[in-house]
Amino acid sequence: MNKPFSPLDAAPEELAQAPDAAALAWLSALERRNLIAGALVEAPAGMEVTEPAQMTPLGQAAASGPQEVDAAVTAAAQAQPGWAAMPARARGKLVAEAGRRLSVQAEPIARLLARETGKALRTECRGELAVAADLLEFYGGLGSELKGETIPFDPKTLSVTTLEPLGVVAAILPWNVPLVLMMLKIAPALVAGNTVVVKAAEEAPFATLAAAAILDQVLPDGVVNVVVGDGLECGAPLTNHPKVAKITFTGSEEVGETVYGAGADRIIPVSLELGGKSPMIVCADADLEKTVTGAIAGMRFTRQGQSCTAASRIYVHRTLYDAFLAALSAKLETLVIGDPLDEATDVGTIVSATQKATVDRYVRLAEATPGATVLRIGKLPETGVAPDLFMQPTLLLGLPEDSPCVQEEIFGPVCVIQAWDDYEAVIEAANATRYGLAATIWTRDIGLALDASRRVNAGYVQVNQNLTIQPNLSYGGFGRSGLGKEASLEAMVAHFTRNKTIVLAGM
Ligand code: NAD
Repeated sequence: MNKPFSPLDAAPEELAQAPDAAALAWLSALERRNLIAGALVEAPAGMEVTEPAQMTPLGQAAASGPQEVDAAVTAAAQAQPGWAAMPARARGKLVAEAGRRLSVQAEPIARLLARETGKALRTECRGELAVAADLLEFYGGLGSELKGETIPFDPKTLSVTTLEPLGVVAAILPWNVPLVLMMLKIAPALVAGNTVVVKAAEEAPFATLAAAAILDQVLPDGVVNVVVGDGLECGAPLTNHPKVAKITFTGSEEVGETVYGAGADRIIPVSLELGGKSPMIVCADADLEKTVTGAIAGMRFTRQGQSCTAASRIYVHRTLYDAFLAALSAKLETLVIGDPLDEATDVGTIVSATQKATVDRYVRLAEATPGATVLRIGKLPETGVAPDLFMQPTLLLGLPEDSPCVQEEIFGPVCVIQAWDDYEAVIEAANATRYGLAATIWTRDIGLALDASRRVNAGYVQVNQNLTIQPNLSYGGFGRSGLGKEASLEAMVAHFTRNKTIVLAGM
């Protein structure tokens, strides 16, 4: 099918009046499609995507293989010189315009996202669309910041550095926040003059394709391409493709290792955003109410805890522990778990039966640990679906620090809460996992806040707040949480350009 197609042509008023119909129009336009060279191309094979809240088929996604990947990379490679030849500000203006168009189409795409991921529309999906559009507008304004330097090498020369695009960027996405993670990668890549091939997550490909189709409406053909398929048949051929000049990956540690290896084989740069087990340290003088609100936001309970940044280890000073636990439980009790599309719902489902089984395994392990307590809080909906993927916010108390539940990423609504007495010991515990993505410190003592911020081993440290990724704040982890930064101007320069030195001498 060639562009434009029906959902893109709809006026904002029509979309507002019938957002569900528009979501379904998007779905039928995107089934079994890849976006290649400016067209939604039907793939020879398909695979079923399940709607997790209903446990019924949502639609057929493309099951792409090496041939489709090659077509997408070839299209991106052909489009790249022309795209790079445009002035950077002009590229940025187009990317920002795509952000504005995404805002207009946000509601139906948010509904599609809610259906494919199980995330609640009101608390999660609408916000995700807003951040995705904002990232396009943010990076769209940064084209003229792609500056090199002048070097005082020899007064008889003009010695400068220039920033050049890398070429074709492969962007591999997970399912948890696909649109934000896509824009964190492709907005800076595009503004810097690269073209992209996105590999959508097999669990949640449709909203990704819809957002890419909107970008494609304003960008030259082939500048943005999307392939849908599984990791082995589609992701691996993409990372191994000889025309890919850079890989940017968000996902699990295990796949991150493989992807890093694929980059090493061809000596191309790789950025990795992997897992996390982020500590939240609550000091004795912290404001209880703000801390509890921060814990719920930080743990991403409304996203069923499916966040790499989730504040999934909360260390509370013993003098506050009982009051904190009581206040946290009371607040969690008020969260409405239910149909992701219902406006009353705060918390939807876990993304898949496989992910639910993984999360359940950790909870069973905690239950079997001597001295540990498992608290399941809130009311599950009666769905009539069996088995369903709803899960209550779950708190794990009294675990030893070496428990896998404390050390490993669970990626579900399961939070470890520990009491602490000794400041040195809590810093040590906070730093004792193999991760280093994010951390938060809660205290009124500025000296303590500065000391803990300096000593905690994490790439993104916040004091007395627990925000998600923000445009212009570099975001990225240390240790096994990954390599490189996203979300900022520095990230665009560091990860999507190469630096050339030019020395001009007179004759
Ligand atoms: P995953 O690693 O299983 O899959 C991620 C993507 O990689 C998918 O598109 C998948 O198809 C693809 N893939 C799988 N095998 C591949 C291969 N051999 N070659 C190339 N691509 C391949 O991760 P997931 O289950 O989709 O997502 C959950 C994980 O993502 C969690 O571990 C979470 O911590 C991580 N995550 C990290 C961040 C961050 O910013 N640090 C953000 C969100 C999610």
